[in-house]
Amino acid sequence: MKNAEFSRRDALGLAGAGLSAAFATRMLGPIPAQAKAPFTKTAHCGFYNFMHGDMQVSVISDGFLPFGDGRKTMKEMSMEDMAKHLEANFLPVDDMVLQENITVVNNGSKIAVLDTGMGASKMFGESTGRLPANLKAAGIDPENVDAVILSHCHPDHAGGLVDAAGKSVFPNAQVYVNEADLNFWTDEKNLSNEGLKPFIELARANLLPHKDKITFIKGGEEIITGVTALPAPGHTIGHTAFMLNSANKPLAVTCDTGHHHVLFVETPKIEFSYDMDSKQAVQTRLKMWDMLATDRIPFIAFHFPWPGLGNLAKTGPDAYRFFQTPVNT
Ligand SMILES: [Zn+2]
Repeated sequence: MKNAEFSRRDALGLAGAGLSAAFATRMLGPIPAQAKAPFTKTAHCGFYNFMHGDMQVSVISDGFLPFGDGRKTMKEMSMEDMAKHLEANFLPVDDMVLQENITVVNNGSKIAVLDTGMGASKMFGESTGRLPANLKAAGIDPENVDAVILSHCHPDHAGGLVDAAGKSVFPNAQVYVNEADLNFWTDEKNLSNEGLKPFIELARANLLPHKDKITFIKGGEEIITGVTALPAPGHTIGHTAFMLNSANKPLAVTCDTGHHHVLFVETPKIEFSYDMDSKQAVQTRLKMWDMLATDRIPFIAFHFPWPGLGNLAKTGPDAYRFFQTPVNT
């Protein structure tokens, strides 16, 4: 068997050949392109539609957030230990990327968008704000959206309610949000806090123009048929996750209960500096992960690798592993 004979030495030899080519490029200048097409930087299509019971669920990408060395935003664990977890999962330790996976539900009578992405804001760079284009690619016209349901009022979730000109992106939608969350993130008084200021400004710009269209959501309430609010406080004061239900099949939308598919899953007790009450966020996360693993409930996580759909298995006391669901298109 040729494959069985493939050794580590062969692999190193191949790597060596690659190095030589790189060396030649550096010494002699770029090698003339031989391929019939240039390298392309086009982004992926960014939508995934699937049926869940009798409802259609879509995951639409708003792009991604480049965090650099994300370990610096974690607490309660050493940098070395976090590096070990990342390396064991073949992930770079200094280039954490968080996706922006937005769930859209069509329950047959209504279309709901769960969170809206960064919108026109470039607070996290150029790689966000793709929701409108990807909705269009998925065949969903923002004018046909009946409900915008917000998990919380952070910029990467509530930043896409208005466009760059301040015009409503979803002109015919009712906006659903937790009352305490809305009050905190639109409170003028919080503008004096330098750290919070850009977040407050963005929340005000997006939410205040929709004041007359806002309905407050409460835990346990069904917002539209098949979409129930699950209180998940900690990340923000009123952070809310959702449970989709159709034909007696549950599918959770965990929003920002955990931001990274390795660090917050293998070691869910670590704390995130973007969590408003990080101790409460840990309690919420442990409860949520336990429910998902025990009841084998699939879920969509907002910031996990595209499209963020998968399951959790318990691997030890307060330790889990994320199993991504293959995307069948
Ligand atoms: Zn987020």
